[in-house]
Amino acid sequence: MLNRRIILAVVLIVCLVIPAQWSLAQDMPDFVTLIDADSVMQHVEVLSVDIGARPMGSEEESEAAEYIADMLSEWGYDVTIEEFETTPPSDMGDGELVTSRNVIAVREGDDQIVVVGAHMDSVTDGTGAGDNASGVAAILAAAEAISDYDTTHTLIFIAFGAEESGDPTGADMVVESLGDEIENVIAMINVDSVGVGTHLNVYAGAEIEWSDEDEEAAPEIIGGPTWVRDLALDLAAEMNLPFGTSPDDTWGGFTGDWSDHYSFVLEDIPIVYFEAWQWEGAEDAWWGQETPDGDVMHTPGDIFENVVPEKVEMSAELIAATAYALASGMAEAE
Ligand SMILES: [Zn+2]
Repeated sequence: MLNRRIILAVVLIVCLVIPAQWSLAQDMPDFVTLIDADSVMQHVEVLSVDIGARPMGSEEESEAAEYIADMLSEWGYDVTIEEFETTPPSDMGDGELVTSRNVIAVREGDDQIVVVGAHMDSVTDGTGAGDNASGVAAILAAAEAISDYDTTHTLIFIAFGAEESGDPTGADMVVESLGDEIENVIAMINVDSVGVGTHLNVYAGAEIEWSDEDEEAAPEIIGGPTWVRDLALDLAAEMNLPFGTSPDDTWGGFTGDWSDHYSFVLEDIPIVYFEAWQWEGAEDAWWGQETPDGDVMHTPGDIFENVVPEKVEMSAELIAATAYALASGMAEAE
């Protein structure tokens, strides 16, 4: 009799305690079922086939912004397109200012903010399908899936302009216009190129210092908070999504000072960066490479046909789950 009671008590404790530790994904909408490859790829197709390459300041970047804004409005977000002046890098312009823009979609909650962003501009080689129609498509699919569910905190989806070395970038402008409100941003999710690379990855943010004397020298990595990356990795494991991170012998789970997350890293905002990339067997261990044959981004090969639907779909699923966990208050800084 006593043994039976003890067994019952143990079973009860196991049932009550263990799920609370590992069932984060079970307590939220089933984003794996809610998000499908066809609808994600439709966004990639509009951006990279119907519109095509979207250099900063171009008519095509503006068309992309209109499309993204229309979609997000349809799903109930308060959308504004904010224009800003920027100087493209020398290989994309003649030093003249151009007008770029950010699409900013807000769902008002309490004063704490979760930012999810991806850049919509591209270089002129190829049509910016992987870099970064794939990332925009993934955040659009996440925004649509989340729009049916309540969250506590304010959620902001952003399609950035002028990421491809604009001075300033769209992310710089967002950080500047947030002003003191930046302190209310609990986390930023950046999605840049999730459609072509060999493996799906999530990284944490770090301040990076490169050596002035030696271009080949390893950078100094001043690691920022890692809990948002770890949240994404935990959710990926629960959802059976194959995500890894950067290798121990180089970035050690962090990423570098390119792309839109970095403006937020410099403001001490915890970030997670989604990227499809190959680290193992890369020619340059610090750069890695996109595929076994080398990089596709910024080449004529960065076209719709080279985007892998499942990669963008799985990215969208994990972005939705991570954003939902953050915005609902299920996950917080340790
Ligand atoms: Zn990019």
